[in-house]
Amino acid sequence: MSEWETVIGLEVHAELATETKMFSGAPNKFGSEPNTNVDPVSLGLPGSLPVLNEKAVELAIRLGIALNCDIRPSVFSRKNYFYPDMPKDYQVSQYDEPINIDGFLELPDGTRIGIERAHLEEDTGKSTHVGGDGRITGAQYSLVDYNRAGVPLLEIVSRPDLRSAADARAYVAELRAILVAAEVSDGKMEEGSLRVDANVSVRRSPDDPFGTRCEIKNLNSLRSLGRAIEYEANRQIDLLEAGESVRQETRHWDENDGRTHTMRVKEEADDYRYFPEPDLVPLDPDREWIEQIRAAMPVLPAERRTRLAAAAGVELPHDGVTLVVERGQDEQALAAVNAGGDPARVLVHIEQNLAGDGGADLAPGRLAALVALETGGTLTPTQAKEVLAEMLTSDAAPEEIAAAKGFEAMDTGDLTALVDGIIDGHPDEWAQLAEAHAADDQKKLKKLSGFFTGQVMRQSQGKANGKLVADRIQERLQT
Ligand code: ADP
Ligand code: MG
Repeated sequence: MSEWETVIGLEVHAELATETKMFSGAPNKFGSEPNTNVDPVSLGLPGSLPVLNEKAVELAIRLGIALNCDIRPSVFSRKNYFYPDMPKDYQVSQYDEPINIDGFLELPDGTRIGIERAHLEEDTGKSTHVGGDGRITGAQYSLVDYNRAGVPLLEIVSRPDLRSAADARAYVAELRAILVAAEVSDGKMEEGSLRVDANVSVRRSPDDPFGTRCEIKNLNSLRSLGRAIEYEANRQIDLLEAGESVRQETRHWDENDGRTHTMRVKEEADDYRYFPEPDLVPLDPDREWIEQIRAAMPVLPAERRTRLAAAAGVELPHDGVTLVVERGQDEQALAAVNAGGDPARVLVHIEQNLAGDGGADLAPGRLAALVALETGGTLTPTQAKEVLAEMLTSDAAPEEIAAAKGFEAMDTGDLTALVDGIIDGHPDEWAQLAEAHAADDQKKLKKLSGFFTGQVMRQSQGKANGKLVADRIQERLQT
């Protein structure tokens, strides 16, 4: 199976962070009572007319700039089809003349993924099918909420440049980080602000032409995206290895059984009868406006990663750096380093111990003060973690919290005596360690010094500073 190559192209829908809808003044807001954020335009009432939202256009341009696209004059079209969540019976979208074309996105590891287009369109309402398995077939009745109808969307279509489920996840994570950094979308997959359709095909060799693809609809988390692609690629490989062929179709991912299922077969290709929307003029943004937007662009994740890695003294790609930037905690990290915190420890604490609620709000100066206690030998890493957890709910200085917990650094004299005592109590192990030291046998050296450090930690009940222990062992080895 390993000789097969998976080919993936993604279509991502991102809801834009505007105050109001794409073509009317109704609020663009998640989580309201059903059918309260509506007006004649979102309900498609006869005689209502669309007015284009300037902010939505600005956000589309911002994304176009962030994805290195060619930003072009564009035309809105009607995509005609019938479904109860779309009261006009057509969706206003961009078809043959989209606003952004021919860009690329760089994954954190440097791989470039082509962007075919990123066009503007309006979202549909949301239907809930009650009874049965949640789908329209077999439902007793259906409910529809038009709050989402007319919410501005960008559909971002990648080229089929992705080659694994892991890369597809990295692409969506990076795209989300860019959307959030550029304040184009809140990027919340759990609220449906970001929805992914994955096109998947397989081929025996990278030199073969692309295989027949299937499109998996509406993947709502990175985990589902990864699992669905893995399942679908294996399904296609099994078919081809059994001498059968892949049928081009739209499939649905079932989170419960971990499989994709046929939704509709592509041969009956949908005919959307696109034509230019007669109620809207073509969109031709001023070059000057585009340049103003470009000049005001915030720093994007790639540059922020470079900056943080340089400050922390680590090489890119670095998972910790990627994560901290994705979570928007890089400013906090940089400020803590500027306040004198040891860069590596600052990064570890933000990555591992400040991921939860309130973590991003911890003042950088306080984090730097905690790290200073740790690197100065007053606190062990485990103790520092405990103090840090308490700092999130208390204004007390880290020293005070540490003292209240009884985390006093061991007196250096006591520590030296303790280490010496353990060395003298284990002459055989010490002889072996000295031998490994003389022979420069790193593996043995590591194992045996681990033995001594472990003994010290046990006897000091975790209060000994690991670095000082290692220093004392070194000192004894030199003599
Ligand atoms: P459609 O209009 O049917 O959605 P597109 O040509 O716009 O078709 O392609 C949609 C997506 O499918 C794009 O993201 C593209 O990269 C991807 N794609 C096209 N061909 C393949 C293929 N053979 N394997 C995987 N993905 C593909
Ligand atoms: Mg499509």
